[in-house]
Amino acid sequence: MSKIWHPFTQHALAEPPISVARTEGAYFYTKDERKILDAISSWWVNTHGHCHPHIVKAVQEQAAKLDQIIFAGFTHDPAEVLAEKLVKITPKGLEHVFFSDSGSICVEVGLKMAIGFHHHSGKPRKRILALEHCYHGDTFGSMALGARGEFSDIYEDFLFDVTHLPFPEGTLEALERELIADPEGYAAFVFEPMVLGAGGMLMYSADLLKSLCDLCRKHGVLLIADEVMTGWGRTGTMFACEQAKIEPDILCMSKGITGGFLPLAATLCVPKIYDAFYAPDRRKTFFHSSSYTANPLACAAAEANLEIWEKEPVMERIKLIAEEHKKHLTSFAERDDVMGVRQAGTIAAMDIVTNDSGYFSDLGSVLYKFFLERDILLRPLGNTIYILPPYCITEDDLKNIYDTIHESLDFIGKLKS
Ligand SMILES: *Cc1c(COP(=O)(O)O)cnc(C)c1O
Repeated sequence: MSKIWHPFTQHALAEPPISVARTEGAYFYTKDERKILDAISSWWVNTHGHCHPHIVKAVQEQAAKLDQIIFAGFTHDPAEVLAEKLVKITPKGLEHVFFSDSGSICVEVGLKMAIGFHHHSGKPRKRILALEHCYHGDTFGSMALGARGEFSDIYEDFLFDVTHLPFPEGTLEALERELIADPEGYAAFVFEPMVLGAGGMLMYSADLLKSLCDLCRKHGVLLIADEVMTGWGRTGTMFACEQAKIEPDILCMSKGITGGFLPLAATLCVPKIYDAFYAPDRRKTFFHSSSYTANPLACAAAEANLEIWEKEPVMERIKLIAEEHKKHLTSFAERDDVMGVRQAGTIAAMDIVTNDSGYFSDLGSVLYKFFLERDILLRPLGNTIYILPPYCITEDDLKNIYDTIHESLDFIGKLKS
């Protein structure tokens, strides 16, 4: 028996984990050379495919030169160069970069920045806005932000209060009501732009996002865009905020920042936030650090990732995936056993018609097994099947995925009858 306690795994029910020996492109290879197609980019982190040679080389070279160093009082080129580049490619106004090492933490950093901003400006604000069904991570702060449910139930008493706006119906009206009721109480609105990922790949319009943000702006509520999943091309643009033409005060990124190679995260913010902490007063220091802040190897991987974006036709690959999705999704929309067929760039999703929806619907694990037996890694969220592939995926691989999903639906249909 392994000594390892795996994430999101009920060991009393789960099959033993599959041991992966190596990865390449869109594939995992197991010890016995079984080849598994990674149709969810290894939990949404991978962008250009596994073990991209350019990132491998950059990390190898960096490893031989400069390993981890303390990042307070010291700096290094990999982080400096990366920060410059991140400021250039993100929405206008974001000028300062704070590094950390996971999605949950970069969101918490954003939240601490926002609360600190209001505090140091002399007008503390106590409340936070988020969307129903949202997900922002698994630490206590990010869990408090996220939708409450079976995952967080037993920790409920330990989570701070957050106002969750109903979604997808009545969101704007609810926001209006909240801001009228408490015009100067809300510190920040935290949101996943365009797609609520873990909540079930729920998509919403750029118009709604823009209206929500405009309204928050009017009331001095800071905008915190959690682009941990949507960033790095996933929704068809480099960052999803671009589609709604919004310029958040704080932008959080992780997953795709290193091409999915090493853990790294960044929280970018506008000057007024940085300036609120900037004073000859140690009490206004931003008191946050992770031991591995701006790890040089991770920064080198991120820089190499950016070079791939500059040198290779990444946007074309993304467009191709989006077109393939569009072409094939109609065949799912026509089915009676499927509803809510939807797409945002490279992400395609659909819900299986069932009276037992949600994450704990057994359907998810039945399907997971069905796909894995056919050497495809797809990990349905309850009755929601989604595809979120690495950008190196081929048309043939995609075709295989669509065909296998059709097969799985037929299989589920037979189980029901
Ligand atoms: C995955 C995810 C996170 C958490 O990232 P971790 O690196 O797993 O901590 C936060 N926000 C969103 C939108 C995510 O999809």
